[in-house]
Amino acid sequence: MPDPPADSTPQGLAVDVLAIAAHRDDVEQTCGGTLLRMASRGLRTAILDLTQGEAGTRGSAEERAREAAEAATVLGVGWRQALDLPDGAVENTLENQLKIVRVLRQLRPRVVILPYWQARHPDHAVVASLGYQACFLSGLTKPPAVGPTAPSAAPAVRPIAPAAAPAVRPTAPVARAEGESGLPHRPFKIVYASLYADVRPSFIVDITPFIEQRHQALLAYRSQYANQPVGGGLFVPEEEIRERTFAEARHYGLLAGVRYGEPFVQKEVGLVDDLTLLPVQTL
Ligand SMILES: [Zn+2]
Repeated sequence: MPDPPADSTPQGLAVDVLAIAAHRDDVEQTCGGTLLRMASRGLRTAILDLTQGEAGTRGSAEERAREAAEAATVLGVGWRQALDLPDGAVENTLENQLKIVRVLRQLRPRVVILPYWQARHPDHAVVASLGYQACFLSGLTKPPAVGPTAPSAAPAVRPIAPAAAPAVRPTAPVARAEGESGLPHRPFKIVYASLYADVRPSFIVDITPFIEQRHQALLAYRSQYANQPVGGGLFVPEEEIRERTFAEARHYGLLAGVRYGEPFVQKEVGLVDDLTLLPVQTL
């Protein structure tokens, strides 16, 4: 096992990578392979879903909670919870930012993955700015407060314990500090998962060894993806999900000269130390 992160604090143990998404199963579709790859390197990964899926055409929020926990196990994720933002009506408000700040201060991630800021689903686009502002606020010693009547951000889902997943060593469980808001913490890096967006990625993560396991994680959402009459006009058949998701991963993999990949956008430029170690062949 790797050494514990150097910046562990009494306020909560650090995770290396936290993926924040609007809906349960967004992470599985856009950066699940990346989380698997990070876990295989001994890094601690976590997922924060902002809604619980009550507005979905198929399945209930309770079903989706169970499925999300199962998917997290497959992804080797040590911590996953869902906030209570309204599904389909996620808004970038101070109150919602502060709900995320509490999680950021508890988990203290070095890297945060957000959805790309242009998206067909309004929730995805909002989470890009909502999450970004939360990351900023989380670093302030005195973030603005909302009134005392603000509802608690008590997550509706218990943290899950990591369980053995084939081929990937689960990340170490993250000790929870249930206390108050914790010390300020600003993530070092924010990257945007851009698989849903028609935009040229800044970089690709090679997920070739993890593509089958990522697919397994997605299929954990049986209420969404198992063939059934409800929502038949909206949802693609189960057998087509594999074809579509593998084709997307193949497309992004090809851009970087690997078999399967997941795309990301970063706002910063890259910094290079040694030109001879630059990956991705030109010709
Ligand atoms: Zn979504």
